[in-house]
Amino acid sequence: MRCIEKTLYTNGRIVTMDAAGTVAEAVLVAGNVIEAVGSKDGLAALAGPGCRTVDLKGASLYPGFIDTHSHASLYAMWKTHCRCPGIAHLEDVYPLIRKQAERVRDGDGIVVYNFDDTDIPERRGPTKRELDAVMPDRPVLVFHISGHTCYANSKALERIGVNPDAPFDDVNVFLGKDGLPNGYIAEEMAFKAMGELMPALEQERHKALVRECVAEYNAQGFTSAHDSAVGIGNLSAETVYRTYNQLYESGELNMRVYLATMEQPFRRLEPTGLLDGPGNRFVQYSAVKTLADGSIQAGTAAIPEGYFFDPSLRPGIIGTQDYWDEMVYHWHSRGRQLSIHCNGVGAIETIITAVERAQARCPRKDARHLIIHCQMATDEHVRRMKEAGILPSFYGLHVWNWGDRHRDIFLGPDRAARLDPAGSAVREGLPFSLHADTPVLPQMTMLSIHTAVNRETKGGAVLGPDQRISTLEAVRAYTSYAALFSHSEAWRGTIEPGKVADFVIPSEDILEAPAGRLKGIAFAAAIVDNRVVHGQLP
Ligand SMILES: [Zn+2]
Repeated sequence: MRCIEKTLYTNGRIVTMDAAGTVAEAVLVAGNVIEAVGSKDGLAALAGPGCRTVDLKGASLYPGFIDTHSHASLYAMWKTHCRCPGIAHLEDVYPLIRKQAERVRDGDGIVVYNFDDTDIPERRGPTKRELDAVMPDRPVLVFHISGHTCYANSKALERIGVNPDAPFDDVNVFLGKDGLPNGYIAEEMAFKAMGELMPALEQERHKALVRECVAEYNAQGFTSAHDSAVGIGNLSAETVYRTYNQLYESGELNMRVYLATMEQPFRRLEPTGLLDGPGNRFVQYSAVKTLADGSIQAGTAAIPEGYFFDPSLRPGIIGTQDYWDEMVYHWHSRGRQLSIHCNGVGAIETIITAVERAQARCPRKDARHLIIHCQMATDEHVRRMKEAGILPSFYGLHVWNWGDRHRDIFLGPDRAARLDPAGSAVREGLPFSLHADTPVLPQMTMLSIHTAVNRETKGGAVLGPDQRISTLEAVRAYTSYAALFSHSEAWRGTIEPGKVADFVIPSEDILEAPAGRLKGIAFAAAIVDNRVVHGQLP
């Protein structure tokens, strides 16, 4: 065996995240695969002379973190639009529109995104008329931070087939007191606007922007990520596949991706065999992605008992139980994995029921369908998910970012207290993960872990202390548990022989840090396939 191909990471604290909680002194990598984990002296003997040695100087080495729900390829595309920073007043969005107008070609949509209506004193978005006053003859879309709704001007409405001066009966087109569309559009109509008004991106530009996004992910400790909802809006699934494959082939892909494709393009592409290709450990085609409801903070989550600020606001699920029974069975019986967006309790109930029925008709031991966000799951839901083999990915950062508003506006104190119930999942023994849903929120890995451990909101309150989890469980949600989401626990997620050499070095040991200090920890280095992709070795 040629020693030159071996790397010995030694003199550190190797936090393996294996089931036994092993902490070792050294790890030996052969090529890009872990050969052994053990003591300094034992592995030095095994490595032999001439082996590359990395002296960790006492630093901790963790398995590379796995993001289980975000949208890196879409985030790359959104980077060409204008992100709305935390603005103080509604009118602050207008200069952003004018500035973005200078950056896009005439006729293309002028898009501002991440606008958060309940974070400004006006508690609303701009109307069609207000946007017309700013930009009368070019299409404007101001996307809500949820990504599920947007505020459009008259030109934009016209372009997507909504006559701004005539009543419109689609539930996703909101009407003003005059009975005419007021510019606010939701869900399918908002996605339609995204598809028709946002300019397509050239492949090379997309690749460059994806590389920027991957660098941001690496800096947040991610060596792998699920890229969800591929093929939504104006970014075709083929473009996304080409971007990742070309980056991989040229050696420029610094993160492993697991691509969940929207159901429509999935159906279209399934007969080509592309989605069943051999793949590799960098670019994998995976689940069928679909949405069962909208977003809590956009007022479109399926909450049958109604919102706190307006109990008459009771959005339903997208489709019916029968629809979901058939759709889940269709993919389940074909051996596919489903990744279904469910925020509200009504959507979670419907999808768990549909999976239970599909399992009864066609038992599959290891289907591991995913419920994404799963924010309002009850304890009974948690029990049933375990029974049906469903894995939930909680949107834990909601507790921090919107927690105060969930308590005061959207859900009220009781329902807010059990938002993203990771504590219930731990008690039930149900593996789960945590995510940021980038670009909805930026990747903030340690803040996410901090929030899961402390349940602290941005406003300094504690939301549902009984849903707090240990730091160990929160780190598992990004490592060993997260690997289950892609059926990849045999080759990643922990530091054990036979697994890929994906590691991170935190600025201080995460498991040893006091709970109050977790959010201050950074990632000093990230290593993918035994290659440093972020920061530097000690
Ligand atoms: Zn998402």
